[in-house]
Amino acid sequence: MHKVKIDQETCIGCGMCVSTCPKVFELNDRIKSTVVEKYRRDSEDRGKVPKRVKCVLEAEENCPVGAIKVG
Ligand code: SF4
Repeated sequence: MHKVKIDQETCIGCGMCVSTCPKVFELNDRIKSTVVEKYRRDSEDRGKVPKRVKCVLEAEENCPVGAIKVG
């Protein structure tokens, strides 16, 4: 599994992660990136995603402010 963590303080709500990896990311009503409910763990800024969902790595790479960490 990939662990995903979004730094919502840093997120500027550009939507890049949502277009790169819509299976995993969506914007909340404050226009901050969140993990979709299916993969969410504990809070909206954290998730666990199966390794086969490779777009999380692309989303991490593409985020213009480095707000996504994938482990
Ligand atoms: S790509 Fe980065 S800055 Fe843009 S919405 Fe996603 S987490 Fe926020």
